[in-house]
Amino acid sequence: MLRRCVGCGARVEKAHLRRVVLVEGRVEADPAQRRPGRGAYVCDGACARRAVARSGFQRSFRSAVRIDADLVDSV
Ligand SMILES: [Zn+2]
Repeated sequence: MLRRCVGCGARVEKAHLRRVVLVEGRVEADPAQRRPGRGAYVCDGACARRAVARSGFQRSFRSAVRIDADLVDSV
């Protein structure tokens, strides 16, 4: 299943991406890709950083999101 990385825009097989999930307005890592809730995908930490810089998570989740400083390292 292809998913779009919200950092670089590449379409990549879901298994090769890191999932993040929106939990009560906060973006959190989902290493096992099993957490409930709305998900978004990034290639790696660098793309997570890109997504943060370009408001990619806000766009993907269509809402304001909080992003903790450690998110980029935790994906
Ligand atoms: Zn990417």
